[in-house]
Amino acid sequence: MYFSEERGQKHAASGLGRARQGRVLIIEDSRAVSSVMRHRLEGEGLCRVTECASAEVFREVMRGGGTFDVAIVDLNLPGALDGEVLDAVIAHDIPAIVFTADFNRDLRERLLRKGVADYHVKNNEGAIDMVVSSVLRLLGNRDVGVLVVDDVPSARTMLADLLRVQKFQVYEASTGHSAMDILARQPHVELVITDYNMPDMDGYELTCRIRRDHNSDRLRIIGISSSSDRLLSASFLKAGANDFVYRPYVVEELQCRIQHNIETLAQLRQLRVAAFSDYLTGLPNRRFFFDDGPAQVAGRLERGEACCIAMLDIDHFKKLNDTYGHEIGDRVLQAVGARLARRLDGSGHLLARLGGEEFSVLMLGLDVEAGSALCETLRQDVESLRVALDDQDLSVTMSIGLAEIAGHESFSNYLAAADQLLYLAKSYGRNRVYSETMLS
Ligand code: GH3
Ligand code: MG
Ligand code: MG
Repeated sequence: MYFSEERGQKHAASGLGRARQGRVLIIEDSRAVSSVMRHRLEGEGLCRVTECASAEVFREVMRGGGTFDVAIVDLNLPGALDGEVLDAVIAHDIPAIVFTADFNRDLRERLLRKGVADYHVKNNEGAIDMVVSSVLRLLGNRDVGVLVVDDVPSARTMLADLLRVQKFQVYEASTGHSAMDILARQPHVELVITDYNMPDMDGYELTCRIRRDHNSDRLRIIGISSSSDRLLSASFLKAGANDFVYRPYVVEELQCRIQHNIETLAQLRQLRVAAFSDYLTGLPNRRFFFDDGPAQVAGRLERGEACCIAMLDIDHFKKLNDTYGHEIGDRVLQAVGARLARRLDGSGHLLARLGGEEFSVLMLGLDVEAGSALCETLRQDVESLRVALDDQDLSVTMSIGLAEIAGHESFSNYLAAADQLLYLAKSYGRNRVYSETMLS
């Protein structure tokens, strides 16, 4: 993926749970259960799993200096006293997901008091799926910031502790104003959980203020209150909160609501990435180019910086398709896209596949002279590219038109100018760069 996060925050890590690699400990004496979980977790490509079939093996692993991001813990293990292994896991500061066959309300109380991250009961076929989801969630939560806003320290700490057990990056604010400060400084905060009654501004007002700058598709808000006013939820939701919970809350219910909100953001992120990506090359597509380009140009022009825009088109591509077939044509498009992307990686310029065999590069901060030099490099890069077929290597060339961006024209006019120069590059023999300075 060639999108950068700074570019209007439109794109972010792909993957629904966006979990990054994690080390998972499975402490489970049933080989069948353990190996199914291992396969499922490793199959996601995100986890490295260590299995422990008994308390003794677990102790050995820990003596060997093992470090883990999550542990799945069976409570009944040979060679262990009741709950002994779970206590050891928690003492090692490893988030624990309990997976147990025997379950009752007392046990639930004890588990929550101990600070387990989650628990699941082995009483149905879907239970393993639930455990796997819990693991991926916990791994993903490590990148997510959550802000807790409450003026009462004990209430705030209780909620913050609950979130830390879920491995979120937790920020705490005791007033609405400090909440706004934290939001301004911490762009990775995805969720705000705010109390209603606070001295400087109440949760309703805070929600309204947050919503002036932060949309619901990037930042979620959950209101919370111990008030007996049953209509408080309505005012929070109308102000733009996504959810509301009355205190005292049921821990599992609150966790579930939090996770739903975080997952919704991840799904929206995925949709944005899909909508703005070219399916074949993975490059930004025409939609993204026209969505993001004008603002990038306006910013540069305001600062008095030069910009130019290049149209790149593969030469005689139709013939290549006709000769080798559409599939080979696709492979060439992918190879060309990847070569251009590699050259432009980290440059800050915006590369897109506009359609067919046409690409464009918005060169930010470059005048025509510097832009021409870069275009020439790109032209040579493509010329030297070899796409390996079974019995031969294919090569292609590209023609490039480069227009300066000056004066306040529409974005499509800039692109049309580059297109006209591309036409001249084609008519003067292809495999060349043509810019305005060459017009005579
Ligand atoms: P010129 O040198 O003048 O640019 O000629 P050309 O043949 O490259 O240009 P033309 O516009 O005549 O043909 C472009 C071809 O690109 C026609 C079309 O079938 C092909 N094409 C468009 N999109 C795709 C695609 O996604 N995959 C493949 N394989 N071919 C595509
Ligand atoms: Mg067992
Ligand atoms: Mg062409």
